Amino acid sequence: MVETRDKTLPSAAIEEFRSSLRGELIGTGDEGYEEARKVFNGMIDRRPQFIARCADVADVMSAVNFARENELVLSVRAGGHNVTGFGTNDGGLVIDLSPMKGIRVDSSKRIAWAEGGCTWGDLDHATHPFGLHAPGGVISTTGIAGLSLGGGVGHLTRKAGLSCDNILSAEMVTANGELVRASATENEDLYWALRGGGGNFGVVTSFELKLHPVSTVFAGPLLYSLDQARDVMRFYREFMAGAPDDLNAFFAYLIVPPGPPFPEQLHNKTVCGIVVCYAGPMDRAEEVTRPLREFGPPLLDGLGPVPFPAIQSAFDPLMPPGLQNYWKADFFEDLSDEAIEAHLKHGPGIPTVNSAVHLYPVDGAAARVGKSETAWSYREARWVLVIAAVYPDPADTEKNVQWVRDYWEAVHPYSAGGAYINFMMDEGEDRIRASYRDNYQRLVDIKRKYDPANLFRMNQNIRPNGAKA
Ligand SMILES: Cc1cc2nc3c(=O)[nH]c(=O)nc-3n(C[C@H](O)[C@H](O)[C@H](O)COP(=O)(O)OP(=O)(O)OC[C@H]3O[C@@H](n4cnc5c(N)ncnc54)[C@H](O)[C@@H]3O)c2cc1C
Repeated sequence: MVETRDKTLPSAAIEEFRSSLRGELIGTGDEGYEEARKVFNGMIDRRPQFIARCADVADVMSAVNFARENELVLSVRAGGHNVTGFGTNDGGLVIDLSPMKGIRVDSSKRIAWAEGGCTWGDLDHATHPFGLHAPGGVISTTGIAGLSLGGGVGHLTRKAGLSCDNILSAEMVTANGELVRASATENEDLYWALRGGGGNFGVVTSFELKLHPVSTVFAGPLLYSLDQARDVMRFYREFMAGAPDDLNAFFAYLIVPPGPPFPEQLHNKTVCGIVVCYAGPMDRAEEVTRPLREFGPPLLDGLGPVPFPAIQSAFDPLMPPGLQNYWKADFFEDLSDEAIEAHLKHGPGIPTVNSAVHLYPVDGAAARVGKSETAWSYREARWVLVIAAVYPDPADTEKNVQWVRDYWEAVHPYSAGGAYINFMMDEGEDRIRASYRDNYQRLVDIKRKYDPANLFRMNQNIRPNGAKA
């Protein structure tokens, strides 16, 4: 018998489960357990009883059945980036999809099939030689699964839509352990729900993704001094309203990393910036980005032609796993002068070089999808804000958390209400409802159909009875 806080399971049942897997089952006493239980956010310190490193769909089916039959808390983990720590739990089972990285590209149809454990870096590697990319985030180590299922904003959002808008179909293991396909013609309700509804409905083992012709992009950061911040934010707001969809640019407060390619005089300086990714015809790149580059002038103009995977991974070194992460988020329909003043008050207080204040545009192609076409409701929002304190020493938690909360309190009154679920931490039922608005009840109905016992609850949870906890 193996004792845990939650469950005592017969060792025969555990051995039967272990032998059903092609992948590895890692238990609390096994070698590698301490590494295997970790997720990206170093603040999360949980001890699941088992981590099933699934090698294929059959492993996932077996693991879902084992969790359900033994009433174990179940976490599903792909890239492990969810900062709330949904990718792990205490005393239960983690389905770790990281070994499932198969990718197939059909360049003539501009489609990729990617298994549930792929990161954006894996996908970029496979599609770039064909001059094709799917819209992901801004860091290459994030999982395509968690990011796409929750929505997905990044360098190609204005050109190609949210990541979830580019899911053509998905194969998933539902709570009863069956493999189903969800697409525009099969299990249409599930297909609707998984585009923005997060991990509530099952384990996606494979995605069929729409690819876009993107290869070399004109991209990089523009940095400005803090005394330019008011003018920069106002200019940025106006400029983006008229910018072509091929141009993505997010606003940021940041501390300049102390190393190349940044000039020494800027190292460790707090600045504001605009991170640009122009993915249109290269002969128009100079003209389209000129107003941004001439404004200010910037302290640093780091724009130039780069392969798309280079910009998608440019900030990876700033976001290593294991640091403490505390995040808060909101949607914004506009960026009023008053909201800008609140940013000016708190943005410069960004605590560490790893921390981030990012204002991502979600207009363009993302806004041309109807608000009830997918589970992602905020199609009229123009911006997604994330305020993220990221720091190494747990002893600094109080002041970092305070900075995030004060900042968020100051800008929240100007927000649209809910938040992008992938940038939220555990903020309770009301925040989840506010993020889905009119789509919430439909999500509850679909949840009740596919997961009536709420097996998949380690997520921004849609309860099958729609009730508060
Ligand atoms: C460094 C960093 C950078 C980020 N940058 C961006 C960004 O640019 N744009 C953006 O939109 N978001 C970004 N995010 C947020 C990101 O979208 C979420 O953290 C997302 O949950 C990460 O997905 P994952 O697969 O890596 O995480 P995981 O922790 O593995 O998964 C998160 C949740 O997704 C669900 N899930 C995961 N895999 C599956 C699956 N195969 N089937 C069903 N459910 C599944 C589960 O509920 C799981 O708990 C970033 C996060 C970090 C930490």
